[in-house]
Amino acid sequence: MKTKKFNAQTERLMDLMINSIYTNKEIFLRELISNASDAMDKMYYIALNDDKVKFDHDEYYIRITPNKEKRTITIEDNGIGMTEDELVENLGTIAQSGSEEFKKANKKSENHEIIGQFGVGFYSSFMVADKIEVLTKSYKEDKAHLWTSNGAKGYEIKDADKDSHGTIIKLHLRENTEDYNYDELLDEYKIRDLVSHHSNYIRYPIKMNVEKKRPTEDSTSEDPKFESYREDDILNQAVPMWRKNKNELKEEDYNDFFRQRHFGFEDPTSYIHINVEGMIAFKSILFIPSRRPYDFFNIETKRGLELYSNGVLIMEKCEDLLPPYLSFVKGIVDSEDISLNISREMLQKTRELDLIRKNIEKKVLEELNRLLKEDRDKYKEFFDNFGVVLKSGAYENYGQNADKLKDLFIYPSTQENVTTLSEYRERMKPDQEFIYYANASSKEAAQELPQIKSFMDKDIEVLVLTDPIDEFVIKVLQEYDEKKFKSISTTEENKDAEEKDSDVIKDMKEILKDEVVEIKENESLKSDASFLSSRGEISIEMEKTLKNMPGNQGMVAQKVLEINPNHPAFEKLQKYRGKDDELFKTYTNLLYNQARLMAGLEIKDPIAFARDINKLM
Ligand code: ADP
Repeated sequence: MKTKKFNAQTERLMDLMINSIYTNKEIFLRELISNASDAMDKMYYIALNDDKVKFDHDEYYIRITPNKEKRTITIEDNGIGMTEDELVENLGTIAQSGSEEFKKANKKSENHEIIGQFGVGFYSSFMVADKIEVLTKSYKEDKAHLWTSNGAKGYEIKDADKDSHGTIIKLHLRENTEDYNYDELLDEYKIRDLVSHHSNYIRYPIKMNVEKKRPTEDSTSEDPKFESYREDDILNQAVPMWRKNKNELKEEDYNDFFRQRHFGFEDPTSYIHINVEGMIAFKSILFIPSRRPYDFFNIETKRGLELYSNGVLIMEKCEDLLPPYLSFVKGIVDSEDISLNISREMLQKTRELDLIRKNIEKKVLEELNRLLKEDRDKYKEFFDNFGVVLKSGAYENYGQNADKLKDLFIYPSTQENVTTLSEYRERMKPDQEFIYYANASSKEAAQELPQIKSFMDKDIEVLVLTDPIDEFVIKVLQEYDEKKFKSISTTEENKDAEEKDSDVIKDMKEILKDEVVEIKENESLKSDASFLSSRGEISIEMEKTLKNMPGNQGMVAQKVLEINPNHPAFEKLQKYRGKDDELFKTYTNLLYNQARLMAGLEIKDPIAFARDINKLM
């Protein structure tokens, strides 16, 4: 028997493990399973290059065995195993990562799937165990060794017996504490749960002998009897969906997968299966859900994709895989090129992640463009759910994305239920200078706007912006295909208005001088007596939106009160000018306040407003 000390780094790491830096001790199982899987991959690789070594995939598996009496849990594999020297090197010194060595020794290899990139995984077992035994036999020799360690002090190695090549790791669990019940780790359900959660897609079957019940031979429907028996169960799914060939899969399979993974309850609007090789290799299945999650607009809600490295779940919600404006996308990404920085239990922000994100962004936008062209109804379903998020992308990043997104925006218009900007552009009249838009809650509501009537009379199409952010997006875009956007309720500054103003208008201005920048007559108002429009950068809609934003410094629209000179109410008002100043003032305020109401603005003094109306009634 030989007793050895760990090298300095290992000792330090062990100390960290024993005093558990992890919030999640259970990941030890994931780490040991990954090591076992790597050891079998290596066997496979050696068999490829060495005729003397046989590899029959069916014979390779991982076995987990909990023992409640002895409070141990073993993880067994029939991978390459370790010689005595390898034991010392791999499990005694941290600086030496066996996988790294293996990689160097097999430089010719293009197959980097076999490289476990988890640095210090084995030692995580010390979070749950105070004694660890590793019984191992290398495929290279007919000798087995038993490595034992009780923790930070060191380890010993002695000769041992084992029939075939491979490794059996036995963990002696720690005593339960107030904070952690280690016994739970011996529970069949717990193990099942951990495997399906963290190691579901390991390529080899993960077996466990479990207790089951079946009806006895003399069992009848009147007198049912059951007996217990034991049987091997496979705990993982082995071949993950995303590694399968697209041609083998049907839409149904994707829909089932969507529900099984709890991405949603209903069939998704769309799915994307990606298999990329090149600068970075990754596989991915992505979904656009058909329903907006109830907590979608909650800032606290975590977004992101599930990230796997070689079938091992690294992160449940990796935000860095999606630009924020695609945060509604659900799904998984699996890449062997991603590594885990285990000392932080955190993914390093790597170049690899950037590459994957760019790729995913491109693929999702392609899919959205396809939907828009090929299935307008489905696209509308998507846009009703997530259009707002997509639109926010136009002003993310200082508007850099606006160009690639603008053709994905759809709007109702006075002529169509749904139109893209390019379709609107094609329908524009030859001499039409602007792309016109109106703010309203729906197409129907827009048709009631006093100002829209003159556009409809002239058969000029007007886009209807229903989202508060729409106008901000339009401001970022500025123009589409060389045509500028123009709100139907902005008016140009009229320099000579002052001189042309009638006496009535001048007097009204005096009354409303703190409220409006201009009052003008507008013959096209038809059935309405007055209407509010705006001048300058901030529209009335923007004023409403800004009002609800934190940090808003009282930004308001420059309002223009438009008066219908042919309306009886205005004629009445004119009659009181110079005769009854009080009533003239009341009428002026009424015309202004009802215009505010029609614009969706609140009235500053609702009580006075109600009293004025009552007086008239
Ligand atoms: P990593 O797997 O990232 O290299 P670990 O600390 O988990 O780091 O393991 C150290 C080394 O020990 C591995 O690289 C591997 O060479 C060896 N090893 C661990 N578990 C096994 C196993 N089940 N079979 C064979 N070798 C193993």
